[in-house]
Amino acid sequence: MIITDNHMHLYNHLRFKALKQFKDAGGTHVFLVSLLSTHYNIFPRDGRDFKQIFEEHVKMVKKANEIVKAYAILAVHPAELTILARKFGVDKSAEIMKKALEIAGKYVEEGKAVAIKSGRPHYDVSDYVWKTSNEILLYAFEIAKDVGCAVQIHTESFSKEGMLEIANLADKAGLKREKVIKHFAPPAIREFEEIGIFPSVIAMGDNVVKSAQQGDRFLIETDYIDDKTRPGSVLGPKTVPRKIRELLERGYDEDLINIICKENVEKVYGIIL
Ligand SMILES: [Zn+2]
Repeated sequence: MIITDNHMHLYNHLRFKALKQFKDAGGTHVFLVSLLSTHYNIFPRDGRDFKQIFEEHVKMVKKANEIVKAYAILAVHPAELTILARKFGVDKSAEIMKKALEIAGKYVEEGKAVAIKSGRPHYDVSDYVWKTSNEILLYAFEIAKDVGCAVQIHTESFSKEGMLEIANLADKAGLKREKVIKHFAPPAIREFEEIGIFPSVIAMGDNVVKSAQQGDRFLIETDYIDDKTRPGSVLGPKTVPRKIRELLERGYDEDLINIICKENVEKVYGIIL
Protein backbone atom coordinates (compact mmCIF):
# COMPACT_ATOMS: atom_id res chain seq x y z
CA MET A 1 0.00 0.00 0.00
CA ILE A 2 1.29 3.43 -0.93
CA ILE A 3 1.29 5.97 1.91
CA THR A 4 2.32 9.50 0.94
CA ASP A 5 3.21 12.52 3.04
CA ASN A 6 2.71 15.47 0.70
CA HIS A 7 4.74 18.06 2.60
CA MET A 8 7.68 17.45 4.88
CA HIS A 9 11.03 19.12 5.55
CA LEU A 10 14.34 17.66 6.67
CA TYR A 11 16.45 20.23 8.49
CA ASN A 12 18.67 19.98 11.57
CA HIS A 13 17.00 17.57 13.98
CA LEU A 14 16.38 13.94 12.99
CA ARG A 15 17.28 14.40 9.31
CA PHE A 16 17.11 11.00 7.57
CA LYS A 17 16.12 9.31 10.83
CA ALA A 18 12.78 11.06 10.44
CA LEU A 19 12.31 9.33 7.10
CA LYS A 20 13.26 5.99 8.63
CA GLN A 21 10.56 6.56 11.26
CA PHE A 22 8.12 7.39 8.47
CA LYS A 23 9.09 4.21 6.64
CA ASP A 24 8.95 2.00 9.74
CA ALA A 25 5.44 3.30 10.40
CA GLY A 26 4.39 2.28 6.86
CA GLY A 27 5.18 5.43 4.84
CA THR A 28 6.39 4.91 1.28
CA HIS A 29 6.41 8.25 -0.58
CA VAL A 30 7.27 11.75 0.54
CA PHE A 31 7.44 15.24 -0.94
CA LEU A 32 10.33 17.15 0.60
CA VAL A 33 10.06 20.91 0.45
CA SER A 34 13.05 23.26 0.66
CA LEU A 35 13.06 25.81 3.47
CA LEU A 36 13.58 29.57 3.82
CA SER A 37 17.00 30.90 2.85
CA THR A 38 17.72 31.63 6.53
CA HIS A 39 17.71 27.87 7.22
CA TYR A 40 20.68 27.51 4.89
CA ASN A 41 22.55 30.50 6.34
CA ILE A 42 22.29 32.14 2.98
CA PHE A 43 21.34 35.75 2.44
CA PRO A 44 20.35 35.96 -1.23
CA ARG A 45 21.42 39.14 -2.99
CA ASP A 46 20.37 37.81 -6.35
CA GLY A 47 17.87 35.19 -7.48
CA ARG A 48 20.81 33.09 -8.59
CA ASP A 49 21.86 32.70 -4.96
CA PHE A 50 18.88 30.38 -4.54
CA LYS A 51 20.70 27.91 -6.76
CA GLN A 52 22.86 26.98 -3.80
CA ILE A 53 19.74 26.20 -1.75
CA PHE A 54 18.13 24.21 -4.55
CA GLU A 55 21.34 22.24 -5.20
CA GLU A 56 21.64 21.34 -1.55
CA HIS A 57 17.98 20.35 -1.40
CA VAL A 58 18.06 18.23 -4.54
CA LYS A 59 21.17 16.43 -3.29
CA MET A 60 19.46 15.71 0.03
CA VAL A 61 16.34 14.40 -1.72
CA LYS A 62 18.50 12.09 -3.82
CA LYS A 63 19.90 10.59 -0.63
CA ALA A 64 16.43 10.39 0.88
CA ASN A 65 15.51 8.12 -2.01
CA GLU A 66 17.67 5.42 -0.47
CA ILE A 67 15.07 5.22 2.31
CA VAL A 68 11.69 5.91 0.69
CA LYS A 69 10.58 7.32 -2.64
CA ALA A 70 11.22 11.05 -2.24
CA TYR A 71 10.44 13.99 -4.51
CA ALA A 72 11.84 17.51 -4.38
CA ILE A 73 9.73 20.64 -4.22
CA LEU A 74 11.63 23.91 -4.53
CA ALA A 75 10.30 26.77 -2.47
CA VAL A 76 10.62 30.50 -2.70
CA HIS A 77 8.74 31.07 0.52
CA PRO A 78 6.48 34.14 0.62
CA ALA A 79 8.16 35.26 3.86
CA GLU A 80 11.39 35.78 1.89
CA LEU A 81 9.86 39.08 0.82
CA THR A 82 9.79 40.35 4.40
CA ILE A 83 13.30 39.08 5.10
CA LEU A 84 14.87 40.44 1.92
CA ALA A 85 12.97 43.74 1.94
CA ARG A 86 14.75 44.81 5.13
CA LYS A 87 17.89 45.10 3.08
CA PHE A 88 16.79 45.61 -0.50
CA GLY A 89 13.33 47.14 -0.30
CA VAL A 90 10.21 45.45 -1.63
CA ASP A 91 10.70 45.90 -5.39
CA LYS A 92 14.25 44.58 -5.61
CA SER A 93 13.34 41.70 -3.28
CA ALA A 94 10.44 40.77 -5.54
CA GLU A 95 12.84 40.69 -8.48
CA ILE A 96 15.16 38.36 -6.59
CA MET A 97 12.26 36.04 -5.76
CA LYS A 98 10.95 35.99 -9.32
CA LYS A 99 14.40 35.11 -10.62
CA ALA A 100 14.63 32.35 -7.99
CA LEU A 101 11.26 30.98 -9.13
CA GLU A 102 12.51 30.92 -12.73
CA ILE A 103 15.49 28.88 -11.60
CA ALA A 104 13.21 26.55 -9.63
CA GLY A 105 11.21 26.09 -12.84
CA LYS A 106 14.40 25.10 -14.67
CA TYR A 107 15.07 22.42 -12.07
CA VAL A 108 11.61 21.03 -12.74
CA GLU A 109 12.26 21.07 -16.48
CA GLU A 110 15.47 19.15 -15.88
CA GLY A 111 13.57 16.57 -13.83
CA LYS A 112 15.41 17.42 -10.60
CA ALA A 113 12.26 18.59 -8.86
CA VAL A 114 8.56 17.92 -9.38
CA ALA A 115 6.99 21.20 -8.27
CA ILE A 116 7.64 24.68 -6.97
CA LYS A 117 6.31 26.41 -3.89
CA SER A 118 5.14 29.99 -3.62
CA GLY A 119 2.30 31.78 -1.86
CA ARG A 120 1.58 34.93 0.07
CA PRO A 121 2.21 35.94 3.70
CA HIS A 122 0.19 34.32 6.47
CA TYR A 123 0.81 37.37 8.70
CA ASP A 124 -0.27 41.01 8.40
CA VAL A 125 1.67 43.02 5.85
CA SER A 126 1.32 46.43 4.22
CA ASP A 127 -0.95 46.81 1.21
CA TYR A 128 2.11 47.19 -0.98
CA VAL A 129 3.73 43.98 0.26
CA TRP A 130 0.40 42.18 -0.19
CA LYS A 131 0.03 43.46 -3.75
CA THR A 132 3.63 42.53 -4.55
CA SER A 133 3.19 39.07 -3.01
CA ASN A 134 0.23 38.46 -5.29
CA GLU A 135 2.32 39.50 -8.27
CA ILE A 136 5.05 37.04 -7.25
CA LEU A 137 2.44 34.31 -6.83
CA LEU A 138 1.03 35.04 -10.28
CA TYR A 139 4.57 34.83 -11.66
CA ALA A 140 5.02 31.44 -9.97
CA PHE A 141 1.80 30.27 -11.64
CA GLU A 142 3.05 31.48 -15.04
CA ILE A 143 6.27 29.53 -14.59
CA ALA A 144 4.34 26.43 -13.52
CA LYS A 145 2.13 26.80 -16.58
CA ASP A 146 5.23 27.03 -18.81
CA VAL A 147 7.00 24.00 -17.38
CA GLY A 148 3.79 22.06 -16.72
CA CYS A 149 4.16 21.55 -12.99
CA ALA A 150 2.15 22.02 -9.81
CA VAL A 151 2.59 24.80 -7.28
CA GLN A 152 2.30 24.20 -3.58
CA ILE A 153 1.07 27.37 -1.93
CA HIS A 154 1.72 28.68 1.56
CA THR A 155 -0.94 31.27 2.32
CA GLU A 156 -3.04 33.02 4.91
CA SER A 157 -5.59 30.82 6.72
CA PHE A 158 -8.24 29.27 4.53
CA SER A 159 -11.18 31.38 3.45
CA LYS A 160 -13.34 30.80 0.44
CA GLU A 161 -12.77 34.37 -0.78
CA GLY A 162 -9.00 34.08 -0.37
CA MET A 163 -8.86 30.77 -2.24
CA LEU A 164 -11.08 32.13 -5.00
CA GLU A 165 -8.76 35.09 -5.41
CA ILE A 166 -5.83 32.69 -5.79
CA ALA A 167 -7.82 30.48 -8.17
CA ASN A 168 -8.40 33.56 -10.32
CA LEU A 169 -4.65 34.23 -10.39
CA ALA A 170 -4.15 30.66 -11.63
CA ASP A 171 -6.76 31.28 -14.36
CA LYS A 172 -4.94 34.46 -15.34
CA ALA A 173 -1.72 32.46 -15.74
CA GLY A 174 -3.52 29.71 -17.66
CA LEU A 175 -2.61 27.19 -14.95
CA LYS A 176 -5.23 24.58 -14.13
CA ARG A 177 -6.69 25.22 -10.69
CA GLU A 178 -6.07 21.62 -9.63
CA LYS A 179 -2.33 22.20 -10.14
CA VAL A 180 -2.48 24.64 -7.23
CA ILE A 181 -2.06 22.73 -3.98
CA LYS A 182 -3.00 24.47 -0.76
CA HIS A 183 -0.45 23.32 1.79
CA PHE A 184 -1.65 23.16 5.44
CA ALA A 185 -5.27 22.92 4.34
CA PRO A 186 -8.20 22.44 6.71
CA PRO A 187 -10.64 19.59 5.95
CA ALA A 188 -12.86 21.81 3.79
CA ILE A 189 -12.93 19.20 1.03
CA ARG A 190 -16.22 20.26 -0.56
CA GLU A 191 -15.26 23.94 -0.65
CA PHE A 192 -11.93 23.10 -2.28
CA GLU A 193 -13.70 20.94 -4.81
CA GLU A 194 -16.01 23.82 -5.72
CA ILE A 195 -13.11 26.25 -6.02
CA GLY A 196 -10.85 23.81 -7.85
CA ILE A 197 -7.69 24.26 -5.78
CA PHE A 198 -6.36 20.96 -4.44
CA PRO A 199 -6.15 20.67 -0.63
CA SER A 200 -3.19 19.10 1.15
CA VAL A 201 -4.83 18.48 4.49
CA ILE A 202 -2.69 18.92 7.59
CA ALA A 203 -3.11 15.62 9.47
CA MET A 204 -3.96 17.20 12.84
CA GLY A 205 -6.65 15.96 15.21
CA ASP A 206 -9.49 14.44 13.21
CA ASN A 207 -8.81 16.39 9.99
CA VAL A 208 -8.15 13.24 7.97
CA VAL A 209 -11.32 11.48 9.07
CA LYS A 210 -13.33 14.67 8.54
CA SER A 211 -11.87 14.88 5.02
CA ALA A 212 -12.70 11.26 4.21
CA GLN A 213 -16.27 11.88 5.32
CA GLN A 214 -16.55 14.48 2.56
CA GLY A 215 -14.93 12.60 -0.30
CA ASP A 216 -11.57 11.58 -1.71
CA ARG A 217 -10.29 14.75 -3.38
CA PHE A 218 -7.41 15.59 -1.03
CA LEU A 219 -3.79 14.90 -0.13
CA ILE A 220 -2.34 14.53 3.40
CA GLU A 221 0.71 16.12 5.00
CA THR A 222 2.49 16.62 8.31
CA ASP A 223 4.53 19.75 7.56
CA TYR A 224 7.17 18.08 9.72
CA ILE A 225 9.83 20.78 10.05
CA ASP A 226 12.67 18.77 11.64
CA ASP A 227 13.82 21.76 13.68
CA LYS A 228 15.86 21.12 16.85
CA THR A 229 14.15 24.00 18.57
CA ARG A 230 10.70 22.62 17.76
CA PRO A 231 11.06 18.82 17.72
CA GLY A 232 8.02 17.00 16.36
CA SER A 233 6.58 20.20 14.89
CA VAL A 234 4.25 20.69 13.09
CA LEU A 235 3.41 16.95 13.25
CA GLY A 236 5.82 14.05 13.68
CA PRO A 237 7.00 11.97 10.70
CA LYS A 238 4.90 8.93 11.66
CA THR A 239 1.63 10.86 11.62
CA VAL A 240 0.43 10.20 8.06
CA PRO A 241 0.88 6.39 8.26
CA ARG A 242 -0.87 6.49 11.63
CA LYS A 243 -3.79 8.47 10.26
CA ILE A 244 -4.11 6.09 7.32
CA ARG A 245 -4.26 3.17 9.71
CA GLU A 246 -6.96 5.01 11.62
CA LEU A 247 -9.01 5.38 8.42
CA LEU A 248 -8.74 1.64 7.77
CA GLU A 249 -9.76 0.86 11.35
CA ARG A 250 -12.82 3.03 10.91
CA GLY A 251 -13.87 0.97 7.92
CA TYR A 252 -12.60 3.03 5.00
CA ASP A 253 -11.13 0.70 2.41
CA GLU A 254 -7.79 0.53 0.64
CA ASP A 255 -9.35 1.96 -2.52
CA LEU A 256 -9.80 5.27 -0.73
CA ILE A 257 -6.19 5.20 0.51
CA ASN A 258 -5.08 4.44 -3.04
CA ILE A 259 -6.93 7.48 -4.34
CA ILE A 260 -5.59 9.85 -1.68
CA CYS A 261 -2.00 8.60 -1.59
CA LYS A 262 -1.48 7.57 -5.22
CA GLU A 263 -4.07 8.63 -7.79
CA ASN A 264 -4.46 12.19 -6.51
CA VAL A 265 -0.72 12.60 -6.19
CA GLU A 266 -0.15 11.33 -9.72
CA LYS A 267 -2.85 13.61 -11.08
CA VAL A 268 -1.75 16.86 -9.46
CA TYR A 269 1.98 16.41 -10.01
CA GLY A 270 1.70 14.65 -13.36
CA ILE A 271 3.97 11.81 -12.25
CA ILE A 272 3.67 8.05 -11.86
CA LEU A 273 4.47 6.76 -8.38
ZN1 LIG B 1 6.31 23.47 5.43
